Amino acid sequence: MERNHQPADTTGKEEIMKYEAEAQSPNSSLYHILHYINGECSQSDSNEWLDNYEPATGKVYSLITKGIKSDVERAYQAARNAFPLWSALSAEERSDYLIRIADGIERRFEEFAIAESKDQGKPVWLAKAMDIPRAISNFRFFATEILHTSTPTYVTDSPKALNYTLRSPLGVVGCISPWNLPLYLFSWKIAPALAVGNTVVAKPSEITPMTSALLAEVCIEVGLPAGVLNILHGTGQDIGANIVEHTGIKAISFTGSTRTGEYIARTAAPMFKKLSLELGGKNPVIVFEDCDIEKALTTSVRSAFLNQGEICLCGSRMFIQRSIYEQFTKDFVQRVKTLTIGDPSDDSSFIGALASKEHFDKVLNHIRIAQDEGGTILCGGTAIQPEGRCSEGWFIAPTVIEGLDSSCTTNQEEIFGPVVTLIPFDTEEEALQMANSTTYGLAAVLWTENLTRAHRVSAQIESGIVWVNCWLLRDLRTPFGGVKNSGVGREGGTEALRFFTEPKNVCIKLD
Ligand code: NAD
Repeated sequence: MERNHQPADTTGKEEIMKYEAEAQSPNSSLYHILHYINGECSQSDSNEWLDNYEPATGKVYSLITKGIKSDVERAYQAARNAFPLWSALSAEERSDYLIRIADGIERRFEEFAIAESKDQGKPVWLAKAMDIPRAISNFRFFATEILHTSTPTYVTDSPKALNYTLRSPLGVVGCISPWNLPLYLFSWKIAPALAVGNTVVAKPSEITPMTSALLAEVCIEVGLPAGVLNILHGTGQDIGANIVEHTGIKAISFTGSTRTGEYIARTAAPMFKKLSLELGGKNPVIVFEDCDIEKALTTSVRSAFLNQGEICLCGSRMFIQRSIYEQFTKDFVQRVKTLTIGDPSDDSSFIGALASKEHFDKVLNHIRIAQDEGGTILCGGTAIQPEGRCSEGWFIAPTVIEGLDSSCTTNQEEIFGPVVTLIPFDTEEEALQMANSTTYGLAAVLWTENLTRAHRVSAQIESGIVWVNCWLLRDLRTPFGGVKNSGVGREGGTEALRFFTEPKNVCIKLD
């Protein structure tokens, strides 16, 4: 996709910025991704640029303004100045702005989907089916949810009093998101934060900044007041850490790796910031002999390999009851071998490219570790070089491994790529023990037709989400998050509105 235009700027500075950017950047013919601060697109004070790669070709296709601490300060000041006006709007007025943003994305649906695919490596059809519709839903969901909230009231007996809870926005909040579901997760944080009256300093991953740059254009198009949302680009060290460390930013909603989450917790806790941390996973899929095998097979192929396995909710460890293990494995591998890998712009590609060269190398290294640990590769296990324009892209064949103990590195560490391991089990207790044996606890999938077993195992599994006979079936009203090293706090529905507000108890004596 050719993108030679600059972000729209209603202030008329567009041309000036374009020329400044061209003069100072190493490759002036590429699209330049700029910050969105105080309602305008602007370059970083650093005057430096980061390369932005297209994973499918391995080539630089745009440049990202390389944000630094002073940009965070500019964004913070803009957000702070916008807070009194934005927080004083009625819920209907804020809702109206969010709906307009959703409509604005929808109007440019095709452009957003193509951009997400080019930037992330996922197939365009998937961006159209999942990422962009969900980003639109995120804005619409929270825009309408704030119109239907209620507050608990308690009537105290003696002495008589009425207690009720007021909920106020926090002020300026920080939202930091990863590269796997770029706009989907970015909007999942921004929408509730804005809906309840906060102003936001947000950072997408430097690996996938493009759709957040398009979102900035939409915000300008729909007239979102200046400073309400500020989007900064740059590395985790330069921008992310400075958002986390900023004393004026009252809360951090973060989705990303457990390692970064640990840094954020350590840094933000002494400042008493509110924290929501959505972190890594090593999700188990337990297939009992009494399941609907056809459904389990079909869905498990998707739960292992959709989005190149780069969904935090993907099932990466499959525990299969021994009585069906052999046949299930044979059928599973046969289906995986039919998955098509290739150009993400081709609708016949089920699997696209991995998001970055670094991640591609990491996943290949994990496959080598699995072999060193004695694993048998049943299919995949190698990089793929499609013919034509994608020959230098970062593609890895969907990989199925068996023969590994549940305690080995491969079955304990998050790989976050198109790699799944298969492990037989005999009893429910054994399956549970192995499923719970990692430091993670994000999502789990159970396949069984036995309702009693489904309830029993769901209650015992250490996980924030359990899907029974399905996967990735999401209802935006439900609490979303992980246990153990998969995170702290919950997003989604009223949980998100609670996170982004502070409750205040008001007690009125009645007699
Ligand atoms: P990451 O932690 O490297 O980066 C995530 C974001 O944090 C990026 O925007 C990055 O620039 C920023 N960042 C990096 N260092 C920072 C620092 N010191 N301070 C502040 N911000 C910093 O994660 P990633 O590699 O982009 O994403 C993959 C990870 O995200 C996987 O572990 C995956 O499981 C996890 N994830 C979790 C969920 C969930 O809901 N639990 C959803 C999606 C992805």
